Amino acid sequence: MQLNPEATETAEPITCARCGTTADGAPPTWICSVENGSRRYFCDDCARANIRAIESRLDSSWW
Ligand SMILES: [Zn+2]
Repeated sequence: MQLNPEATETAEPITCARCGTTADGAPPTWICSVENGSRRYFCDDCARANIRAIESRLDSSWW
């Protein structure tokens, strides 16, 4: 993964809060969940596996 100094504001690296996968920017397939005022991102696979928990806004510590 390379960081482009000119794109850090628009393509901030994010990490999946569950499995630790990283990505540049927020892929459209990832889910952003707000928990306790902070944003958490979940990758494709984790989002699919936990879609019900995310939709019901359960904190990820429940998983
Ligand atoms: Zn993940």
